[in-house]
Amino acid sequence: MEKKRILTGDRPTGKLHLGHYVGSLANRLRLQDEYECFFIVADLHTLTTKPEKSAIDQLGQNIYDVVLDYLAAGIDPNKSTIYLQSAIPSIYQMNLFFEMLVTVPRLQRVPSIKDMAQAANLNEESLPFGLLGYPVLQASDILMPRAHLVPVGRDNEAHVEITREIARRFNYLYGEVFPVPEVLISDTPSLVGTDGQAKMSKSLDNAIYLSDDEATVNRKVRGMYTDPNRVRADIPGRVEGNPVFIYHDVFNPNREQIDDFKARYREGRIGDVEVKTALAKALNDFLDPIRERRAYFEAQTGLVERVLYEGTVRTSQEAEKTVTMMRKAMGLTSIWNRISRKGRKAIERETKAETPA
Ligand code: ATP
Ligand code: MG
Repeated sequence: MEKKRILTGDRPTGKLHLGHYVGSLANRLRLQDEYECFFIVADLHTLTTKPEKSAIDQLGQNIYDVVLDYLAAGIDPNKSTIYLQSAIPSIYQMNLFFEMLVTVPRLQRVPSIKDMAQAANLNEESLPFGLLGYPVLQASDILMPRAHLVPVGRDNEAHVEITREIARRFNYLYGEVFPVPEVLISDTPSLVGTDGQAKMSKSLDNAIYLSDDEATVNRKVRGMYTDPNRVRADIPGRVEGNPVFIYHDVFNPNREQIDDFKARYREGRIGDVEVKTALAKALNDFLDPIRERRAYFEAQTGLVERVLYEGTVRTSQEAEKTVTMMRKAMGLTSIWNRISRKGRKAIERETKAETPA
């Protein structure tokens, strides 16, 4: 039996952090054997807010960093396909077909579009058509390999919902081509930042990166936001919503230690330093195997590029297959076949007439 497919990925806007890991990478690693996986490096999506040449010039390095982060995290290129979105024009063609199947007000209601516009200092007047179409391009990404499952963080849930609507609409209008994909939200759908803000994000400067070294992790943990009312170690503190304890819950495998810390923290019998030192150790233990794999892959010149090249070539063929299915279902193929057959015949007749006997 053929394996079901996963599609997910990241925009190459910088290095990946713990939020990316728990929001989506962890599920990818877990499902890598069970599913046929496609991981997209979504460089076209960065153009929706940053079309400038200077931003594009930085993409090369960012793309390299994301792929290396994947490999370091444990994505196995012999099992999973990693590819570069902009190198596959069939995706743009799908995007155009899908643009016809969704309304403008539907896209205007997507909360993340408003968030992205705000973050990029864009208002209603300066909102690019392409940013409004962000979820449509994402639908093209997801439906291109005809994926069944999409593991993403909370902020992407609404986009997958639009993908489902577009898939249903396409199937309704033209016949069953696409599975209607399911979203897979992780146990930690939105990891808090080190500063206590709701989302760890590179743009908020509150991230711990998969590529951070031990000293950097120690420094970032030392500076982490905790319970602001707890100015002394003997004051009872709040565990709920406290990022230090949220990280402990997610990354520290020692449950007993966490329970002990929480109990003492609530009673004002433990200092922040002890809790943070243990957290830094847990994070470094978590990151150590990732660091080792990073060093291994980084040492092999051209390996990252080769993985991306091979994955992109393989995905291109898949994308062409899908576009062929779409054009056939829509009836565009048969129209063109008829026209081209008659056209070719006309040329043949003309050539025969011109050729002296
Ligand atoms: P950043 O906010 O750091 O710039 P991003 O949101 O631009 O990152 P995307 O490429 O949009 O990164 O998202 C990649 C994936 O990682 C998505 O599935 C997204 O939901 C997930 N993700 C990003 N940040 C977090 C987080 N703090 N917690 C959980 N999941 C996250
Ligand atoms: Mg995002």
